[in-house]
Amino acid sequence: MSAGAAVELDRVSKRYETPAGVIEAVDGVSLAVAPGASLAITGPSGCGKSTLLGLIGGLDPPTAGRVSLGGREISRLPERERDGVRRHEIGFVFQSDNLLPFLTATENVLVQCSLNGEAEALDRSRALLAQLGLAAEVDAYPDQLSGGQRQRVAVARALVHQPSLIVADEPTGSLDAETATAALDLLLEAQRASGATLVLVTHEPTVAGRLERKIGMRDGRIADGSAAARAKAEPATPGSPRA
Ligand code: ADP
Ligand code: MG
Repeated sequence: MSAGAAVELDRVSKRYETPAGVIEAVDGVSLAVAPGASLAITGPSGCGKSTLLGLIGGLDPPTAGRVSLGGREISRLPERERDGVRRHEIGFVFQSDNLLPFLTATENVLVQCSLNGEAEALDRSRALLAQLGLAAEVDAYPDQLSGGQRQRVAVARALVHQPSLIVADEPTGSLDAETATAALDLLLEAQRASGATLVLVTHEPTVAGRLERKIGMRDGRIADGSAAARAKAEPATPGSPRA
């Protein structure tokens, strides 16, 4: 294992068995991301980006290979412990903001804290919303907010528990260009300020270009940026463990 990698994948595969046949959604991917670094994953629709991000974020265990976060192999943890890592140490931003419509902006952010059993999180939630330019909207409901404002609430929710890793799947994909740029600015600023590691999926080259490193995927594999990805990962062993 590379010393100190925030995220490390060692020949990770995810296979889905469907009535139509077997899909190797992620096919032997190795990569390492340093703490505090930012990595963009790009590639055409269906190439496995979301599946890969789900493996990195511990949403799903891989079919083969190892996923380690901060040197701990989460792919081997029992589901309950993996849930705990996900809840406490990872912040998620998705394309759709997934805000609960019957809760205010502040309450939506607080949901993440109550999941973590933190009682004194109200101030932190409000302060974070204010930092993200939503001081006047802390008590607004999602349907009173614009798309860009809602996505900023989602960013606040992803950051409020001070995760060491942020994973974002097309976080600006549903926003117009101008709003997307502003939301990405805020996400990157918050990531840098907190020192968290960021792994972000996007099919937009301009978004990918804003991050420190970029890898391209095709058919479940890393198609470009792989040399850099491998150089930081485990010495490559010939052959792949997948069946
Ligand atoms: P991307 O995010 O790059 O569009 P995905 O990771 O969503 O790609 O999907 C990669 C491949 O895996 C696609 O062929 C998709 O249809 C398939 N796939 C994704 N999730 C599932 C699932 N839960 N069951 C079966 N097939 C899936
Ligand atoms: Mg996707």
